[in-house]
Amino acid sequence: MFRRRARDREFREAQLAGHALLQMHANQPAPDFARPATASAPAAPITEEVPDFLPPDLRVPSRDEVEGMMMRWEQPLVLDGEVRECPQCGAYRDWIVFSMRDDTIWLRCRAGHNTAEPRLDAAWYNRNSGPVDAFHPTLEEGLRHCGH
Ligand SMILES: [Zn+2]
Repeated sequence: MFRRRARDREFREAQLAGHALLQMHANQPAPDFARPATASAPAAPITEEVPDFLPPDLRVPSRDEVEGMMMRWEQPLVLDGEVRECPQCGAYRDWIVFSMRDDTIWLRCRAGHNTAEPRLDAAWYNRNSGPVDAFHPTLEEGLRHCGH
């Protein structure tokens, strides 16, 4: 109850502040274009700096801006009660899991065999992956980062 009220008050104060700001702008005199050119030098233009939320090099690319996401999955991957094996070499642990832009999931075994895994999807990936900690311009760098 108390917290709710405190938040309401904050909201009201924020609203009031917003109104005060609008009022201030409304009361600013309009530029006088009729003033002769010989008058004093024009005042510096009023610019409002709107900085980006984060500097570009700190900004996390959105999902649409990357080819895919990848994570290491060291334990056996159990799907429908079966341990997923690499169809080419039989490996069953130490995968790299890729969640691609087209919502497909790919598994890559330690030997570098890639197979699609239609039983998994991006939602599964997002539930099971940690926060993104690095971006890689190439697949090779990504694999190195993941320890493959
Ligand atoms: Zn394999």
